[in-house]
Amino acid sequence: MLVHPVGLGSFIHSNSGKMTGAPLILRLDVTGTPVRWIPWEDAVCLYTRGMVAWTAGEHEFVVRGGHARATGERSCLTIHSIVAIKRSGRGAPLPRTLPPLSNHELFRRDAFLCMYCGDPFSDGQLTRDHVIPLSRGGLDVWSNVVSACRSCNTRKGCKTPEQARMPLLAVPYVPNWAEFLALSNRRILADQMEFLSTRFKRHRPARLSA
Ligand SMILES: [Zn+2]
Repeated sequence: MLVHPVGLGSFIHSNSGKMTGAPLILRLDVTGTPVRWIPWEDAVCLYTRGMVAWTAGEHEFVVRGGHARATGERSCLTIHSIVAIKRSGRGAPLPRTLPPLSNHELFRRDAFLCMYCGDPFSDGQLTRDHVIPLSRGGLDVWSNVVSACRSCNTRKGCKTPEQARMPLLAVPYVPNWAEFLALSNRRILADQMEFLSTRFKRHRPARLSA
């Protein structure tokens, strides 16, 4: 089975025939609420089971299957970059909990900047700093963590920003589910980002001090 993108550059096909670098498909519930990213193979299953309620997005992908014995014709399915799935009695519940906390999404939330010195760093150079240190009762939650370079993290130590005289450059915030989905996908397509961005919260991190 091969996938040919329409309106996109070519993807890389490995020797095994597996496609790498293919964009993920944004799965919505029937009301249009973003649910999760799914690989295109899962999207194909949803299409063939008649589970797709409606689609959105500008990108379409043509999936070619096997040849029919009787006619010799090759099966073909077009899937969209954003698909809304029909309501079903069973199935995975919608994500109503807070997005899980991981360094990957945390560093992207903070734009790969140290929230103390403001300098940019790569993924491997950043650390998760607890604004109120764990040793002082702080929690390991979105609203209490920021990206910090190793130097600033070491300098701050087990102190609060006030005690260390290291003011935060931005208030840590809890991303909503749409923001989390945008943060968690490195290969997000422009139409998927546009769809998710309409559900972003208005309060982006506000600068507290210069
Ligand atoms: Zn720093």
